Amino acid sequence: MKTTGQLVVLGSINADHILNLDRFPASGETLTGRHYQVAFGGKGANQAVAAGRSGADIAFIACVGDDEVGARVRHQLQQDRVDVASVSVAAGEATGVALIFVNDAGENVIGIHAGANGRLSPQRVEAERERISMARALLMQLESPPESVLAAARIARRYGVLTVLNPAPASALPDELLALVDIITPNETEAETLTGVAVKDDASAAQAAAILHKKGIPTVLITLGRRGVWMSENGKGQRIAGFAVKAVDTIAAGDTFNGALLTAILENKSLPDAIRFAHAAAAIAVTRQGAQPSVPWREEIDAFLA
Ligand code: ADP
Repeated sequence: MKTTGQLVVLGSINADHILNLDRFPASGETLTGRHYQVAFGGKGANQAVAAGRSGADIAFIACVGDDEVGARVRHQLQQDRVDVASVSVAAGEATGVALIFVNDAGENVIGIHAGANGRLSPQRVEAERERISMARALLMQLESPPESVLAAARIARRYGVLTVLNPAPASALPDELLALVDIITPNETEAETLTGVAVKDDASAAQAAAILHKKGIPTVLITLGRRGVWMSENGKGQRIAGFAVKAVDTIAAGDTFNGALLTAILENKSLPDAIRFAHAAAAIAVTRQGAQPSVPWREEIDAFLA
């Protein structure tokens, strides 16, 4: 029996091309930027890295292109303790790309080319049936084809694998998918998209959670940025505060939270303790620049909590 992959993450891989400019160019305008870098991103990859670095036994189901950046991403994921046997190479396809402009105010505009992420088809998911069925938990986001996310959730439910959905980026979802989810982890914007309730305080978070429970989801964790998380289980809710830190860049806060949360859940921590562990990981991440470079290793999380 395979021993790797107690956690399976299914999701996206992007090469993020980040250009810092004084301001965004207007339509038809060309501007020279101040700083340029390529970093590995994509919500799936960020969450896989957060799980791997925080200590999970994790396998990643994803697609890269048959280009140089795809080979580099696979290599990097392995350095981050991620099993990449199910990261397949899509022939004739480019690895996913995000083109990100960041202005002086720290705001960003982003365009995405799904590339190889679009090749993570329901057939590819079906080919991973055994890997999913042997896991203890499956973590998914919404940067993969919706029919593939649904296919993976169906397999997981069929074999009693815990299904966790981080419903990002925000989009409306079919009830059929929501009914297959055990734990959902929207941020405030995503919770509003799913429920129509503008989440701005504990009371509105409780209202949004109630709607998600009605859709058949037993555990709702609404992340509230620096305020922490609204945790609601079978209709009973409480806020679990995060850690006060000096945030310099909140990119990948949610991704770090989700990856570390799964690590802790699979170590059989109670849900409030798992959330505190994830809060610590995310708090460290927001004190650092960038997405994957900001994701902490286990030793750093343990030291933060000590
Ligand atoms: P997303 O990045 O998906 O929008 P949130 O902004 O809700 O998600 O943040 C997710 C988690 O990251 C929070 O629950 C918290 O643990 C942590 N976090 C985010 N912003 C801060 C902050 N300013 N200070 C401390 N922790 C933060």
